[in-house]
Amino acid sequence: EITINQIAAGEVIQGPYSVIKELVENAIDAHATKIFVEIKNGGKSYIRITDNGMGIDPEDIEMVFERHSTSKINEIEDLDSLNTLGFRGEALASIASVSQIEVTSKTKGKDTGISLELSGGEILSKKEVSATQGTTIIIRNLFFNTPARRKFMKSVKAETTKINEVITRLAISKSDISFRYVNNNNLMFTTPGDNNLSKVLLSIFPKDLYQNMIYLPPTEEIPYKISGFISQPMYGRGNRNLEIFFVNNRLVKSQSLSKALEKAYENKLMIHRFPICVLNIEVPPGEIDVNIHPSKTEVKFYEEKKVENFLMDRITEVLTKGTK
Ligand code: ADP
Ligand code: MG
Repeated sequence: EITINQIAAGEVIQGPYSVIKELVENAIDAHATKIFVEIKNGGKSYIRITDNGMGIDPEDIEMVFERHSTSKINEIEDLDSLNTLGFRGEALASIASVSQIEVTSKTKGKDTGISLELSGGEILSKKEVSATQGTTIIIRNLFFNTPARRKFMKSVKAETTKINEVITRLAISKSDISFRYVNNNNLMFTTPGDNNLSKVLLSIFPKDLYQNMIYLPPTEEIPYKISGFISQPMYGRGNRNLEIFFVNNRLVKSQSLSKALEKAYENKLMIHRFPICVLNIEVPPGEIDVNIHPSKTEVKFYEEKKVENFLMDRITEVLTKGTK
C-alpha cells in the first residue's frame, strides 16, 4: 500500500542528498551553532545529523513526523501558494515514510530527552533518555520499502558527490555555523563557525587551491556589486559543483551566472573544465524574482543580459590582472 507521504516523498526527496539538505535546514531553523553530518555508503544506508539547536518538545515528537494538514495538498495545486509555502511541514513526514528513523532530542532546561524510533512512518518505540541539548536524527536504509525508488538511486560514488556538493554549499552559505562532515568514518572537514568566509574555504578546499584563489573585495561598482573568490584558471574542475553564487547573500543556482563566469574563463581553461567560485552579487531587489522555484535556489534576473555581461567583464578584468 502506497501512502500519501510516500507520494510526497517522491516530490521532496530525490535521494540521500535531499534528505541531508532538509535535515540540515531544519537544524539551521532550530538555531543550531554546530551541525554534525555523518554518512555511510553515499547516505543510502546511513545518515546522521546532530545539532545543538533548540530541540523538539517531547509532546511534539510524534507530531513532527505527521503531515501538518491535509488541506495543504489542495493548496499545492495553486502555484502561488506552492511558492510561498514550499513544502512546509512535509519533509520529515516524507522522509519517515520511506526510511527507518531514530530521533533523539532534548530542549533547553529539561533534565531528560526523548527518543523515538520509526519504520516506514510507523512508530516502533518512544522512550525517555538522557541527552544533551539539541537533536540527533539517524536515517537508515532510505527507500527500503519503495523498491522502485531504491533502484533509482545512483552509485555510492555518485550519491556521495551530490552530498559533498550540498554540504559544501550549506557550510559556505552559513559561515556562522560550525559544520563537521564525516564520510565512512573519514573526517572530510570542520568549519570554525566564526562568520569568516575565507576560513570556511580554507577548511573545505585543498590547501593549494585555497592559496591560489583570487579575492575580489567588495567595491562600489555600479549597477552591481560583486565580491568573493574565484579560482586561478589552472584549477578547473570536471563539473559545476563549485560554481557557488549568492545573489543578495542568498545561495542560488543560475545557468545564466555560470555561463557568464565560464565565458570569462574561455581560452584560459582547458576544454571541458569548469572554474571554481564563491561570489556574491548584489542586485537591486526590483531586478530579480527569487520565487520561480519552490526550493528558492533559482533566481530570475529581469535584465539577464545586463547581469551576465557585467559579471563576465568583471571576471575577465580580474583574471587578466591577476594572472599576468
Ligand atoms: P518544516 O521544516 O517545513 O516545518 P519539517 O517536516 O522539515 O517541516 O519539520 C517539521 C517540524 O519539526 C519543524 O517545523 C520543527 O518544528 C521540527 N523540527 C525538525 N527538525 C528539527 C530540529 N533539528 N530541531 C528542532 N526542531 C526540529
Ligand atoms: Mg524542514
